[in-house]
Amino acid sequence: MRTPLVAGNWKLNKTESEAIELINAMMPGLEKVGGVEKLICPPFIALSSAARLLNASSIKLGAQNMFYETEGAYTGEISPTMLKDLCEYVILGHSERREYFGESNQIVNKKIKAALAHDLIPILCVGENLADNEAGKAADVISTQLRASLVGANIFDGSKLVVAYEPIWAIGTGRSATAEGANRVIRNVVRPILSGIYGAHVGNKIRILYGGSVKANNAKEYFGMSDIDGALVGGASLKAEEFVGIAEAAQK
Ligand code: PEP
Repeated sequence: MRTPLVAGNWKLNKTESEAIELINAMMPGLEKVGGVEKLICPPFIALSSAARLLNASSIKLGAQNMFYETEGAYTGEISPTMLKDLCEYVILGHSERREYFGESNQIVNKKIKAALAHDLIPILCVGENLADNEAGKAADVISTQLRASLVGANIFDGSKLVVAYEPIWAIGTGRSATAEGANRVIRNVVRPILSGIYGAHVGNKIRILYGGSVKANNAKEYFGMSDIDGALVGGASLKAEEFVGIAEAAQK
């Protein structure tokens, strides 16, 4: 009942011309994949070109970050109204933003509310670090992140929010969480919290992705799990063949 979503987070990679090249390389393969929502999130500078290229395609476009104000004296920031013209999704609260740019749950919360207010679909990233994982605190950390990030973030349709469970120790490390382990966290922690906040009807419609070293050769294991609705893909989304392979693996 939830359409799988395969999202590529390009991070700080690709100039505008390189982005155009990569989109052209992956578009034919992605277009052949049906029954899966395919999304790419290039850097801000490539969004307009990407929007033009993807205009008539089935591939959606998202941003990797956003500020919560709509305009004003915020040098270097990008607003929800600027993004709204170009894309449908925005990744918020990625662990790299939390770690390198000091994003707290409170900041993420403001961003989530701003995105929703402007009809952008947030992909809220949550996940524990290695120390918390080893100390058995994953559920507590995820619970705090989810509750604090979603305070006052009203949604009445679960398709307007996506959550990505990304254990930090599995991001860009090649050390992925097992499919069973990721599924267990999503089923026993993430989904019940979302259903607790929004009610089962809305909560059951929210897609929950796994993220952390997903590749074409391990994607099927994740997508075969009962509670994993797709993937947020970093490194492997920068290679056309890999990303198309992951999207293909999500086809039922
Ligand atoms: C990410 O950046 O969200 C991610 C999951 O990265 P990678 O696939 O490279 O681990």
